Amino acid sequence: MNSLLSKIRRDPQFRIQIAYRTALLSMMALLWASFLILTFAMNRGQSESAVFQDIAKQRMLSQRVVLLGQLALRATSDEQKSEILVLMGESLAELKSAHTDLAKLIGSLDTKGAVAETLHDVYFSNPTQLDLRMRSLVTNANRFSTFLMNSPDVAVLYLGPMEELASSVILPALDRVISIHNGVSQRSAAMTKYVHLALLILSLALLIVIWRFLFKPLAAKIGMRTMQLQVAHDNLQYAVLHDSLTGLANREYAMTKLRSITESSVEESPIKVAIFHLDLDNFKSVNDTYGHTNGDRLLELVANRMQAVVGNNGTACRLNGDEFLIILDTISASETVSGIAGNLLCALNKPTNIDGLFTQVQTSIGIALFPDDGKTRKDLLVAADLALYEAKNTGKGTYKFFQPKMIIKYNQTKTLEQEIDRAIEERQFQPVFQPQINATSGAIIGVEVLVRWHHPERGILLPAEFLDAAASLGKMTQITRLVLEQAFETAAHWLENGTEFGRIGINFSNQDLLLHGFVDEIAAIAEASGLTCERLSAEIVESVVINNDDTQCMAALMRLRELGIKVEIDDFGTGFATMVHLNRKLFDRVKIDRQFITNLDQSERNLIIVDSIIRLSTALGLSVIAEGMERQEEIDTLLELGCVEFQGNAIAPPMPANIAGKWLKAHNKTPLLGRPSNETATASTTH
Ligand code: C2E
Ligand code: MG
Ligand code: MG
Repeated sequence: MNSLLSKIRRDPQFRIQIAYRTALLSMMALLWASFLILTFAMNRGQSESAVFQDIAKQRMLSQRVVLLGQLALRATSDEQKSEILVLMGESLAELKSAHTDLAKLIGSLDTKGAVAETLHDVYFSNPTQLDLRMRSLVTNANRFSTFLMNSPDVAVLYLGPMEELASSVILPALDRVISIHNGVSQRSAAMTKYVHLALLILSLALLIVIWRFLFKPLAAKIGMRTMQLQVAHDNLQYAVLHDSLTGLANREYAMTKLRSITESSVEESPIKVAIFHLDLDNFKSVNDTYGHTNGDRLLELVANRMQAVVGNNGTACRLNGDEFLIILDTISASETVSGIAGNLLCALNKPTNIDGLFTQVQTSIGIALFPDDGKTRKDLLVAADLALYEAKNTGKGTYKFFQPKMIIKYNQTKTLEQEIDRAIEERQFQPVFQPQINATSGAIIGVEVLVRWHHPERGILLPAEFLDAAASLGKMTQITRLVLEQAFETAAHWLENGTEFGRIGINFSNQDLLLHGFVDEIAAIAEASGLTCERLSAEIVESVVINNDDTQCMAALMRLRELGIKVEIDDFGTGFATMVHLNRKLFDRVKIDRQFITNLDQSERNLIIVDSIIRLSTALGLSVIAEGMERQEEIDTLLELGCVEFQGNAIAPPMPANIAGKWLKAHNKTPLLGRPSNETATASTTH
């Protein structure tokens, strides 16, 4: 018992079970009691009506006997008399039997009850003595029958008492019995009614108790549990379809949504749907430079900004890493897809402060429209992807709409990829040379080696057209080796015939730096051609340094310096976070990117940037070279800012070996800051 009680106290589920069962049992008990009472009342009613019928019968028979006696006396023939006597005999027998049964029943009643006592009195006590009187009636009637045929005068003597008995004693006594019975029936009916009412009230009270103490708390509990379940279900649903870091919808959600959009018939969706495929251009470097925690925070920030721009126009999803997909399916009339793309770039390309560190990500966006650019999910994604690829290849930090020609371009790239091996084998990659001069002394300080692909069908291809393909195939080191072998041979030839060229500038790719021992291999090739390392300089693109802030890349840079090869940071200003790298004493020179030199004399912003780069580099003890000047005004502005080293078409364009050789010779003879002779410039522009 104790353990049961403690279980009830401890276990709420058990408590509910117990309460539930108790309620059920109580209800069953009440129903059972109700059933018993009804049955009892019905049985009683049945037996009472039988008794009542018996009494009514006796009443009728006693009158009939007297009536038949009177008829028999008046009968005219013996035949008639005897017929009536037969009837009278039958009625008497019935009366006697009915009376005997009832008298026996009443005689056997326990006389403690008031009703039983009264009935008893009526039947067996004075003044009524119904039993005795009934038997007298029967005796008188028998005697009347006996004497009627032979001695009618004697028979008459019995008829008078019979009439007297029947009318003045038996009938009132039977009426009294009937009224006693009626009273009893009414009382028991009233009793049954009260008991029923009590049961009903009890049932209702029990129902209220059950509702108040069992079902109400139970319902509240069930409601609460259901709500908790719903919340858990919603959370699960949310987790399945959302990215845990940014809270944006995830790839799963994006793919399902795209499927439902593309599977709904085009007629059903008159509104066009736009798919934005976004990629952060330099996210890897943020991760590498600032650590993954800050990288995550940047992603959260980007997601928030994205969400703010997208608003109710669609859904922003994170596919993975720094890749996002935006599905714009409810573009309002006032907004255009390109408007939203522009807003996105503005919001996402803003400088960001993470934990006191300022950084800036650039985002490229590829846009595809449904159903114009693809009717299936796969086609749409490919279209958006190709547009993104194009956006990245045309300067990054921008957006591009899908155009069918991108497929052609993509296929061309794929074809180029297939042709690269053969091109290496057939030495189709060849160097061109672009001089660098010092404006103060007029001396040639270097010659940058730039690769050209002499494609058998498409003519001369620029690096922008094939370097990415070569890089994605991992062919960069082979191309660098091939190009430099030829460049060193040319430079050695210039040395032999006394053509001064300063240093040979080599563009080292990411893959070149990461291939162990490659730097030494290049130095060995140079030396084999007759060039010492002092004749070489290495140009490392800013993004290569940042994206490979690992030991291997740093080791390669150190090795270059150990070998006596000058190291310079190329395309300076196009990446970010380069101050960190500048401060590491890894570089000898900074090469300001062409985008800041173009229109330098007209652009206030470019002027500020270039001025800052020059001041900073000078302060850090680094020399500065500007590339890409095409006009005298740009040169003049650079000179005013204190930059004296130049490489650009205004000085000389990239030229093949023989023309470059001639240009160098000519310039060496007349060491002035100037352009190539008309003859040379015309000859070289084709390259
Ligand atoms: P870069 O190293 O910054 O080379 C300078 C680029 O600017 C060259 O483009 C050059 O032709 C161009 N340039 C120089 N002055 C002017 C000018 O006044 N106006 C204009 N419009 N352009 C000018 P190019 O040859 O197309 O090379 C593009 C980039 O490809 C190079 O940029 C370099 O990053 C890469 N590259 C070229 N050759 C090689 C190579 O052999 N190996 C590697 N790894 N990368 C290379
Ligand atoms: Mg370069
Ligand atoms: Mg450059």
